[in-house]
Parts: sequence; C-alpha cells; structure tokens
Amino acid sequence: MNESLSYVHPTPDSPWGTYLSQIDRVMPYLGRLARWSETLRRPKRSLIVDVPIEMDDGTIAHYEGYRVQHSLTRGPGKGGVRYHPDVTLEEVMALSAWMSIKNAAVNLPFGGAKGGIRVDPKKLSLKELEKLTRRYTSEIGIIIGPTQDIPAPDVNTNAQIMAWMMDTYSMNVGGTATGVVTGKPIHLGGSLGRVKATGRGVFVTGREAARRLGMNLDGARVAVQGFGNVGSSAAELFGQAGAKIVAIQDHSGTVCNARGFDLADLMPHVKDAGGVGGFQGGEAMAAEEFWDTDCDILIVAALEGQITAARASRIKAKLVLEGANGPTVPTADDILADRGVLVVPDVICNAGGVTVSYFEWVQDFSSFFWTEDEINVRLDKIMVGALKNIWDTADLHRISLRTATFAVACERILSAREERGLYP
Ligand code: NAD
Repeated sequence: MNESLSYVHPTPDSPWGTYLSQIDRVMPYLGRLARWSETLRRPKRSLIVDVPIEMDDGTIAHYEGYRVQHSLTRGPGKGGVRYHPDVTLEEVMALSAWMSIKNAAVNLPFGGAKGGIRVDPKKLSLKELEKLTRRYTSEIGIIIGPTQDIPAPDVNTNAQIMAWMMDTYSMNVGGTATGVVTGKPIHLGGSLGRVKATGRGVFVTGREAARRLGMNLDGARVAVQGFGNVGSSAAELFGQAGAKIVAIQDHSGTVCNARGFDLADLMPHVKDAGGVGGFQGGEAMAAEEFWDTDCDILIVAALEGQITAARASRIKAKLVLEGANGPTVPTADDILADRGVLVVPDVICNAGGVTVSYFEWVQDFSSFFWTEDEINVRLDKIMVGALKNIWDTADLHRISLRTATFAVACERILSAREERGLYP
C-alpha cells in the first residue's frame, strides 16, 4: 500500500500538487507501464542542507539549501539551482520532477534534478554570495558529479555562480571537473549559445506552433511576463521575426506599447535600471491589467503559478508559450483548453536550455568545442523533432500538448525503469 509522502503537504495549485495532477492525467495513456507510476510520484532522493556563512560584518548567517534528484533512471540528474527567498523543498521537488519529464520529452540521456537556497541574493555582497555558493556546493557534493547529477543556472544564478560551483567541486575531488555543472563561462568549458538557449527554444516551439495555427509571426503581437534571461532572449528572437512586443511585466513594473517596443532602446534600460519599470518608450500599466493585453502570443517567463483560473479566462492570446516552469495551474489549463487557447507546455517549450546544457556536457567530456552556428542548428533540429513527436501523440489520443508531452516522457522513463528492473 502506498502512503502519500509525509514531508510535503501539497494543495491542488501548489507546484507539487500541480505536478501530481499532471501525472494523474497521463496514466490512461501508459498501458501496463502504469504499474510503475508510483516511482514518478516519489523523488528518488531529497537532500536538505544547512548552509552557514560568515557575513562581511562578522555575524554568522544560516540558509536552507536543497538538492532533489527526482529520477536517475535514464541517466545522471540534471537541473538548475535557484536562489530565492521563497524556495521550498516542495517547489524544488516539483521543479526536479518537471526536469525528469523535460529531459525525457527531448530524449536527452538525463534524469531530473533541481536545487535551491532560501535566500535573497540581492541582499548579499559578492564575497558573501561566493561563500554561500561554495558552502552549498560542498554540502551537496556528496550527491552531485559529472556522471551523478549536473547542476546549472536557474532564477538568480548565473555563469559566475557555476564557475564557483565547478571550482569548489574540483577542489574537493582533487582534479578539474568541468562537466560537474553546465552554464559555465565559455573559457571554463561553457558552451556558445547556452545563455540564450532557453529563449531560443521558446521561440522555436512558438514558431512551429504559430505555423500550425496559421498565424504569421510578422506583425504578431506578443506580451511577455518575466524579462530576465528567458523572456528577453525569446522577445528578441520574436522581434527579429517581425513580431511586435506590446506588453512586458517583470518584478519592477508593467509597461505596454501598442505599436511595439523598440528593443534596442529597452535592453540598455533593463540592464541599467534592473527591470522594465520606468521605461519611457511605452506606458506604465497596473500589474493585474497585463492579463487583459490584446495580443496574439503570450510568453510567461517568470515564476510558477502565474496563470490562475481567474487570469486564464481573461487572456486574449491564441497561443501561450510557457518559458517559465509550472506557470499554469491545472484549473487554468482546463479553462484555456475550453477557450481554444493553445498552450505549448513548459516541459517542451523551455527545454532549449537543458538541450544546450547537454551539448555543453558532451563538449566537456570530449574536450572538443562546437561553433555557435552548429549549436543553434542542432538545437533547432532537436526541438522541432521533439515537438513533432509530441504533436503526433496529441493528435493520436486527442489530448492537450501538455498531456502528450507527459505521455511521451513518462513512457520513456517507465520503459527504462522496467528494462532496468528493481534492485535488489
Ligand atoms: P531570471 O532571473 O533571469 O528572470 C526572471 C524574470 O522574472 C525577471 O525579469 C524578474 O523580474 C521576473 N519576475 C520575478 N518575479 C516576478 C513577478 N512576481 N511578476 C512578474 N515578473 C517577475 O530567470 P530566468 O532564467 O529567465 O528564468 C525564468 C523562468 O524560466 C523560471 O521559471 C525558470 O525556472 C525558467 N527556466 C529557465 C531556464 C534558463 O535556462 N534560465 C531554463 C528553463 C526554465
């Protein structure tokens, strides 16, 4: 008899609750593999660590850190590390599970993992941030490694943090281990194209979905929530394809411009001001009005749970691209489906980042590095192929792209589970 996990208490719209309901929806399409389904509802390994550091003023601060390996069935764990004051074990569990699904959906030879620290990194000095990263890496060092689990950047982490993680792990094992993390600086074994890869994947899947909907990108109106790494890279590529970015929201504010923003003006403002708030090349609007924007495509590239049931009934876009992980709660998903809004789900839409992370890991192992053009062409080919396979599955069973992505991914994970068998 399977009891529910004692250490989390998910609600229907919380990240782990959302993931569990997505798993429930896919069960009818898994045939006899469904007997393994409980393995998808339990992370293989969840590590909680205390991360103490000496602050610049001499006080000692303690932070809570996590690394969850949801599944290692198809290969080493793979997934980012998030620094955010609201990170919880439950959130990291859901993010790690979505990584298992994503990696399998794109057919990368990885399981799923994720990490995080409950911290507001903007309140730390650079030295404190380095100490925090190094101590956290040392604490989770017992379960990560180039063939065990390979972290990467996520919200509020970047190439510099990956460099400190790589260096700390390398010092502890006594040799340079570039393959222990991805998203590193280029001269430390990083890959060209990695920084913008997630946004590029959002664009590629959006381009393919628009083509199927008969929507011309030239002149299409796009609204973007979250204008960090993912949102801004995707917006740039849509802009290059002729689309108009008509509304943007981030933590600093919400701005709109019905004629389309001049991104060449906006990007330096975001860099200097730390966000879109205060940009003069458009008008400020109230945060909640963002969801009423008249647009053809909506890109959500901030945090989880942003498209609630109430917001789903107001969205005017015909196509929603999930750059963020878990941005749509299950009740909202149903409302969007009933209203005929096509959602390209996170587990395929934002898989461009981990795909180029995979390229980085392969390049590190072979010590042979590819050109940016080679990377972008390979990324495009993999994303288009994976989406086509998912679309065929959706058409076959008459199910949403999300359930189809879960069906393709869970079939791969559970087939591998069955072929490996249970140890002992
Ligand atoms: P980032 O830190 O670069 O940017 C996050 C953006 O979200 C910022 O513009 C921030 O202002 C905005 N934001 C934060 N809170 C907000 C709020 N309450 N309302 C509106 N905007 C808010 O992070 P990122 O790397 O661009 O990641 C964004 C999302 O994409 C996350 O869900 C992340 O898990 C997911 N993702 C990232 C990658 C990657 O390669 N970076 C890969 C896959 C998925």
